Amino acid sequence: MERRRILFLFLIFLFLLVPSVVMAAEKPIQILIDGKVVLSDAPPIMTNTSRVIVPVRVISENLGYYVTYDSKKKEVNIVSGQDRIRFVLNQATLWKNGTKIALDVAPISKNGRSFLPIRAISENFGAHVKWDASTQSVAIDTKVDTVVPPSETGNEQNGQEQTTDKPTDTKEEPSPVDETTNDETNQKPDQENQNDPSQLEEIAPSNELQTIVQDGTSLIIETKETEFTHKLIELNQPNRLVIDLEGMILSPNLKSPEIAENELFSAVRYSQFQLNPDQVRIVVDLKKKVDYSIEKRDNLLILQMKPKVFKVVIDAGHGGKDPGTSGVSGTREKDFNLAVALLVNTLYQNNQEIQVIMTRDSDTYPTLDERVELANSLGADLFISIHANAMTGKPDVSGTETYYTHEESRFFAQLIHPYLVEATGFNDRGIRTAGFRVIKYTTMPAVLLESGYLSNSGDEAALFTPETQQRIAQAIFKAINEYFGIKEA
Ligand SMILES: [Zn+2]
Repeated sequence: MERRRILFLFLIFLFLLVPSVVMAAEKPIQILIDGKVVLSDAPPIMTNTSRVIVPVRVISENLGYYVTYDSKKKEVNIVSGQDRIRFVLNQATLWKNGTKIALDVAPISKNGRSFLPIRAISENFGAHVKWDASTQSVAIDTKVDTVVPPSETGNEQNGQEQTTDKPTDTKEEPSPVDETTNDETNQKPDQENQNDPSQLEEIAPSNELQTIVQDGTSLIIETKETEFTHKLIELNQPNRLVIDLEGMILSPNLKSPEIAENELFSAVRYSQFQLNPDQVRIVVDLKKKVDYSIEKRDNLLILQMKPKVFKVVIDAGHGGKDPGTSGVSGTREKDFNLAVALLVNTLYQNNQEIQVIMTRDSDTYPTLDERVELANSLGADLFISIHANAMTGKPDVSGTETYYTHEESRFFAQLIHPYLVEATGFNDRGIRTAGFRVIKYTTMPAVLLESGYLSNSGDEAALFTPETQQRIAQAIFKAINEYFGIKEA
């Protein structure tokens, strides 16, 4: 009895187990392109590290790409519209339009076919690729990939923005798709599940980006469900706002937003930036720097933009108990400094884009630390300290100097100096570095202007004429406007 029972159970066990094991092992992985099964004599393969790799030629030719293979170099070249993609077998690197991209799995050759990991395809071939463990199929959707406007080449489209942008920009960039530290590679499946792709490629249902609508200088982004997280990053050179939506895919019905002429932005682009985990990236191409706010309300994300108001601190040197240097005829530096600072302030009286903050607007003496603290606490964008110089015992020394301390201030120093020299008409004594307290401890680009020498009778006389003071104020005004890209009315 006992034995027969054991045998019976064993047979049932075999009956249940064996066919399914065989089925799983033998059932080829299917490829679906836009919902249609694509026949291929080389089906996708599950690697022993649980990556799904797919035959390049079948995929790319069904997507309308042109593929060539150089057997000597083991190099595959794919041409798709303006894109050139190149990779070499057994090397975990791909070049797209000359940009090097790391792959998590090297392309291989099997039965005379080249295979690429699906992630490499979804990120570089402009198609939406998903692995469905339940049906053992790779679904490729070409319709969800949309880049706006059509004329844009769209660096963001394939997650390469970081590698193609200027180096100065990279530290601000949102984190790129890091092939070496991303989800798949970080997961360590235990032994028995090593070949279960569902462990690695399973996808939680994502939210869908449905519409992007312009409302004046605001954008309203609508998603299907309320659940999602967003992240906004401001980038420079060129100015743009980047919104990343996590757990998001593009709706197949999403249309390019029509952007009406406005003063702040020229285009709104979007792309399926990443799959697995899904991430949509929206890029707003700005015409100028903006102040912005972003607010999530249920399934809406509202981005409001207005022209950025730049804060410029104008520091009239010395003042009150500290007269600064004195001129050969008895003039006081502090009076010259204040006169010019007040003129600059007047030039910006009704300006919507520049807010001038004076460290003093009368004959008072804020300490140097107070001036620094004012600028730093405001988060000012620029700091300009106005002074005049003197050299004891050298009445012949005449001329204009611009000082800065930190490297980040050099650009503005170079910008303002020629305007200042032109305004004074004095000798050009150059752009110099020095550790003056107000330009050393301020945390924004900061310069100190030594307009001329009060110890020189010619400089002194000119600096105390209203005409020269007005020209110097105009020079400062021009440089500030140029620095912030503001068109003078
Ligand atoms: Zn001074």
